[in-house]
Amino acid sequence: MKKRNIAILGSTGSIGTSTLEVIKKKRSKFNIELLTANNNYKKLIEQAKIFKPNNVLINNKKHYKKVKKGLKNKKIKIYFGNVPLNNIISNKLDYTMSAIVGVAGLQPTIEAIKISKIVAIANKESIICGWEILSKFIKRYKTKVLPVDSEHFSIMELTKGISDSEIEEIIITASGGPFLNIPNKKLNRIKPNQAINHPNWKMGKKISVDSANLMNKVFEVIEASKIFKFNKKKYRIIIHPESYVHSIVRFKNGLIKMILYNTDMKIPISNTLYGKRNHILNIKKIDSKVLSKLSFQNVNSNQFPSIKLVNKCLNLGFLAPTIVNASNEVLVNLFLTKKIGFLDIVRTINKIFKDKDFNKYAKRKPDTIKDIQIADNWARLKTLTMCVR
Ligand code: NAD
Ligand code: MG
Repeated sequence: MKKRNIAILGSTGSIGTSTLEVIKKKRSKFNIELLTANNNYKKLIEQAKIFKPNNVLINNKKHYKKVKKGLKNKKIKIYFGNVPLNNIISNKLDYTMSAIVGVAGLQPTIEAIKISKIVAIANKESIICGWEILSKFIKRYKTKVLPVDSEHFSIMELTKGISDSEIEEIIITASGGPFLNIPNKKLNRIKPNQAINHPNWKMGKKISVDSANLMNKVFEVIEASKIFKFNKKKYRIIIHPESYVHSIVRFKNGLIKMILYNTDMKIPISNTLYGKRNHILNIKKIDSKVLSKLSFQNVNSNQFPSIKLVNKCLNLGFLAPTIVNASNEVLVNLFLTKKIGFLDIVRTINKIFKDKDFNKYAKRKPDTIKDIQIADNWARLKTLTMCVR
């Protein structure tokens, strides 16, 4: 069988690394065209030595020479900065994993859509901010796009061939993160290390912080409302601390379907790679003892005030999600570098909504990348001026 040409954008991250682990099991079936990273040049070099891609790209120019030195005498082309992917790759790719973190992943994802048959998107920020633009290219290039985020992968599986009129409610589960049982008032002195210590998942720092205050769920409802054509009022978030159930769909005929699997992103990843013939993973069986202890509870908005942002974003639409995302990216960085407290993240996002210029930037249609950049830049600057005195 012909080898599949693939690329992984953000290969050194948590999703990127898991994707390579999945590929490693059937290494001979793949021809790796491209691996990309931002700063982690050591890991990129290490991955390139093991996986022998034809090309690597390090986004941050300051690491270019180090990558070049590290991969001397190897038949690997090395690039830096935001070189368009079609300048690097000439053959059509069979599969690209979009796993950059943040809206920085939007432009590369658009380029991947142009040159790939399948794009698996983990990079939820590009969906939240740029779905309208991504959709145009998906249609034009007839690319198949598959969601990797575990909840969205599950909703896709649960609703194949289902129309909106058959659905009563779509429930996205949230683990509640590390602070589920710590009163919200006590959270301002929380340290970054405590926030990124997720009970069930090992993920990148940004999404771990987003999971600790449930901003991740705000983003996931927006993400789902963009990807799927169901009425956006049908989404609900429920706390499920064990994280085995990823999404639940309640149908009008009285049936409820849910998808359960281990808290291992290699499961959705390998399904986007292999589809139904996905039997190469050594998946740990879920113990029946675990199944008897699955629990669900409603989200308490006093504990997780972020949750009120879901309806605000969905009702406003347009560039409101882009503004919230940009502000959140800045705030998470400020929190991780100990410049603001944990509770300041959601507090500041709420302040952005009340800013006198908010409507001017939020209520425009995101037709082009430029439209997104304008709203994104405004939100970043505004957030910084609100926080750094
Ligand atoms: P991470 O921080 O572990 O990795 C991010 C990767 O992106 C790194 O390889 C980094 O080098 C790369 N990167 C960042 N900026 C870049 C740029 N400008 N150009 C090229 N590469 C760049 O993050 P992660 O946890 O792997 O998450 C990646 C994406 O997947 C995020 O959008 C996240 O929300 C989503 N996601 C992650 C998980 C998970 O379990 N980790 C689950 C669902 C969704
Ligand atoms: Mg998720």
